[in-house]
Amino acid sequence: MKNMGKNECYDNIVVGGGVSGLTMALLLAMNGRKVILLEKGPAIGGSLRRFYRQGVPLDTGFHFTGGFSEEAILTDMLKILSMDKDIFPEFVKSAEDNQFIFESTGDCHKLPFGWLTVANAMISDFPDEADAVTSYFSRIRKLVQETGAMDIRSILTERPLQSKDDFVTLADVLDSLTDDIRLKSILASLSMCYGSEPSAISFANHSRVVYGLYQSIARVKNGGDAFIRAFKKQLDKFGVTVRTNSSIKSMEEIENRTVGIFILNDGKPLQAKECIFTIHPKEVLKILPSEHLTRAFQKRVESFERSIGFFLFFSRLNLHFRLKPPPYVKIKSLSTVTLHGQLQRSAPIIKIMRMHFTLVIWHLNHFLLP
Ligand SMILES: Cc1cc2nc3c(=O)[nH]c(=O)nc-3n(C[C@H](O)[C@H](O)[C@H](O)COP(=O)(O)OP(=O)(O)OC[C@H]3O[C@@H](n4cnc5c(N)ncnc54)[C@H](O)[C@@H]3O)c2cc1C
Repeated sequence: MKNMGKNECYDNIVVGGGVSGLTMALLLAMNGRKVILLEKGPAIGGSLRRFYRQGVPLDTGFHFTGGFSEEAILTDMLKILSMDKDIFPEFVKSAEDNQFIFESTGDCHKLPFGWLTVANAMISDFPDEADAVTSYFSRIRKLVQETGAMDIRSILTERPLQSKDDFVTLADVLDSLTDDIRLKSILASLSMCYGSEPSAISFANHSRVVYGLYQSIARVKNGGDAFIRAFKKQLDKFGVTVRTNSSIKSMEEIENRTVGIFILNDGKPLQAKECIFTIHPKEVLKILPSEHLTRAFQKRVESFERSIGFFLFFSRLNLHFRLKPPPYVKIKSLSTVTLHGQLQRSAPIIKIMRMHFTLVIWHLNHFLLP
């Protein structure tokens, strides 16, 4: 970082105050970094934010979730972020509350919770399709167990990230298993949770999302607001500067692929070693200086659809960067380190996180030309 005297200086700028940006900012701050979070809206939270009509709270982007079972990914993430004491899951307990009804005939299928239980319920509703149901559920379990994606305890082990099911659609798999359109509809019904139709999602990503939802579904007391409050408490504790109504307007003094100064929308200059975007790539393109980007990169991002989809990107931050900062955090796939044993032994989570943690990270330097 250049010596610019009076400019505000940070290790990291995190752009976007939704759950991704909040998580990113907090993990970095817990890791000893000086962080500023920029949110262009009037308040942080993004899609986690609720709105009220006649005093009734309505959630926009957070209604229910899987992953709250013991040792599941959300339970572990909240522990790591020290937010587990502030978030209270309220489990949907009865299959009566998780039913799928065919409007045309009134046929009703209840989906209870737990792997065996839900599979058995499906088999009892579709006895002639027992093999199809068993294959569907075992294929999901196998995928999640064999590829490291939704299990933070073993995310850093040497499991492959992808499987052949990343290259086949949910629709193809269901078609190969059964001709029963009702069964296919029920098995595909949870695709509403990620907003893509069965022919547009890989069976692997479908599996990653529904895996936790078949085990349990929970709402959270006070909905998205509970997360926002818990994040605020932790961001405050770890000294993250949060600026709302704020974004990057331009970048100046770019040398050797490094931005010297970030100019905010109110004209204030900032300096930072790294800038991490948690916003839509097309929005990032509006901010990055086009003269420093490859044409190929710009064309690719411009071609992105405004669709709903999800991807996971893992990176490991190295403890030593605090002593000797590298120009940017190295993106690695998976290392041989495992958190599993350490979490099992209830080691202090923060200490573990200082050594190794995984992040959804998008690093500015990857967009800039050499
Ligand atoms: C209708 C709907 C229902 C959903 N229901 C559920 C559910 O029940 N359970 C569940 O788990 N998930 C649900 N989701 C998904 C979940 O809400 C999202 O995956 C998650 O909130 C995305 O978080 P994010 O931080 O990536 O993005 P966002 O929440 O969109 O946050 C991005 C933030 O970046 C800010 N920003 C944008 N551009 C800039 C800029 N240039 N500078 C600074 N800030 C900027 C935005 O203002 C925003 O605050 C739902 C989503 C939708 C749309």
